[in-house]
Amino acid sequence: MKTQSPPFKVMSASGTRLILDNGRQLIDAISSWWCMIHGYSHPDIVSAISDQAAQMSHVMLGGLTHDPAERLASQLEAITPGDLSHVFFGDSGSVGVEIALKMAIQYASNQGYVDRSKIAYLTGAYHGDTLGAMSVCDPEEGMHRLFGRVVIPQLQLPRPPKLGTGGDDAYLNQVESILSHNRDAVCAVIIEPLMQGAGGFYLYSPTIVQGVRRICDTLGILLICDEVATGFGRLGSMFASERCHVVPDIMVLGKALTGGHIGMSATIARPHVFGQFWSDFPDRALMHGPTFMGNPLACRAALASIQLLKEGDVLNRIAQIEQRLGWLYDLRNRTNVVDVRVMGAMGVV
Ligand SMILES: *Cc1c(COP(=O)(O)O)cnc(C)c1O
Repeated sequence: MKTQSPPFKVMSASGTRLILDNGRQLIDAISSWWCMIHGYSHPDIVSAISDQAAQMSHVMLGGLTHDPAERLASQLEAITPGDLSHVFFGDSGSVGVEIALKMAIQYASNQGYVDRSKIAYLTGAYHGDTLGAMSVCDPEEGMHRLFGRVVIPQLQLPRPPKLGTGGDDAYLNQVESILSHNRDAVCAVIIEPLMQGAGGFYLYSPTIVQGVRRICDTLGILLICDEVATGFGRLGSMFASERCHVVPDIMVLGKALTGGHIGMSATIARPHVFGQFWSDFPDRALMHGPTFMGNPLACRAALASIQLLKEGDVLNRIAQIEQRLGWLYDLRNRTNVVDVRVMGAMGVV
């Protein structure tokens, strides 16, 4: 707080604009950390939230259920790739990642593999700020180094080569050898498919995502795709895994899930993962219950956002955005510009 410049005070926000207390307007080119995909105060999302608030703003999702949660779960099943179908709602991306990690660990232990409790992650990764999520983040980046002695040790994999620089096969051989060497200790690999977001908008090849999928299949290790940043069209397809033609065993969604209007996450599993929890023994169940799990306001916001994605020809519009962002490449020759990267609705200098 002491070293930061004082924040701007925002009075309202609409479309791409933030309106400050002194009347100034700012264009928010980072979409509030990439989540505000339809723009601020989208009328459809705002009215869905206020309509729901008048009926029931919250009820615990324990022993109770409600229509918005059930409808959202089936929408997510419908739009996510392959047979991803069992949805666990959380309240933020970090919590969604925590749930995915617990799911993977218990998936192994429910099968009797209690020692397979480690998660493999990529150098350069970012998966959230809670302690479990931090354990699969790059250990050097950001503030995480300070917590090195507290964070659970996991299995670090090298960073994939940058998109377009080659070396994919050599990289995959290296990953395969590390994972097969640690086969008895590892239950899952977690990746941000195609782009490491907070790790510098670092793009890598779809071939690597496919290769990691193949290695996981061969070794019987789960693949978790953290699509908190890449989900809902950011890179030009609804999900980055889709663009790579890969179906993860577990997918984590957040950020743009509600069009950015309220915090929420979804951790979605395939039937073979769910099957390991479906049991006559209660202790086989996945024990996780955030207070605001499946919050109806967030569910309605997400349903409205998904509706907009479906009806709005959004993928074509993202292709147009990608084209328009092409002008950024002109900046490559400027001094102090190291690299320019454009994919879908992501442009980074
Ligand atoms: C932002 C982000 C998270 C964490 O989400 P929060 O809602 O900030 O907790 C996790 N994974 C990825 C890839 C992210 O970009």
